[in-house]
Amino acid sequence: MRETIKLPSTALDGGLGIAHRLDDRLETSMTDGPAVLVVEDDRNLNHLLVMALESDGYQTIESVTGRSAIEEVRIRNPDLILLDLGLPDIDGLALVPTIRANSAAPIIVVSGRGEEAEKVKALDAGANDYLTKPFSVPELRARMRATLRDHVHVANGTETTIVFGQYTLDFLAQRLMRGKSLVHLSPTEFRLLATLARHAGRPVTTDALLRETWGAAYQRKNDYVRVYMHSLRAKVEPDPTHPQFLLNEAGFGYRLNTSGG
Ligand code: CA
Repeated sequence: MRETIKLPSTALDGGLGIAHRLDDRLETSMTDGPAVLVVEDDRNLNHLLVMALESDGYQTIESVTGRSAIEEVRIRNPDLILLDLGLPDIDGLALVPTIRANSAAPIIVVSGRGEEAEKVKALDAGANDYLTKPFSVPELRARMRATLRDHVHVANGTETTIVFGQYTLDFLAQRLMRGKSLVHLSPTEFRLLATLARHAGRPVTTDALLRETWGAAYQRKNDYVRVYMHSLRAKVEPDPTHPQFLLNEAGFGYRLNTSGG
């Protein structure tokens, strides 16, 4: 049985004169699942998300303003944050570094149309993934699972392999296997693939790929990524012209799709 408790609204919001009705009070459900802070000013959408997440066993914390979101991050220490970029009081983009300063929890940014540039900036500021409205609940579930899984692995430092299709990438041995055969990759090809694999299932900006694969001095050398992605696809993809694993994220970067093949 799930029990719902109500907490008083934060003094911070009241003090700043932000409308705060009784039904704005924050709720949490007493389950064992990860706690998700849902920051969304569209109350109907916020409620729908909370209902869907609670039925999946997540604990939820609702927030309809940026200021209350910062407060909830400090007080409740959520395991994952869903952050709408279009908020009434604080730009969601400006919230990302503030949340980062207070929490290591992964952030999935949710943006409406016309906020493409902000989405990229949010990822560069430390968000882990993004969803564009309208999105489906199954899509949200898949992204949340991938984000939480990656985060746990990074936090524990125990994950030494990533599997996609018939491939196993071994970070420690620094090699890629297809079944029982070694796939011959150049050191740079391996580093590029390993960078994508560290963020498996999530988009990685071209800038981040350059920084993590080649180093900070290689910013804006977007051609490098394109050339090496081409050679990696030739070695890994069954049909390099229709990639299943090394997916392009238009105007943004790339994603290693671990459920391809
Ligand atoms: Ca909004």
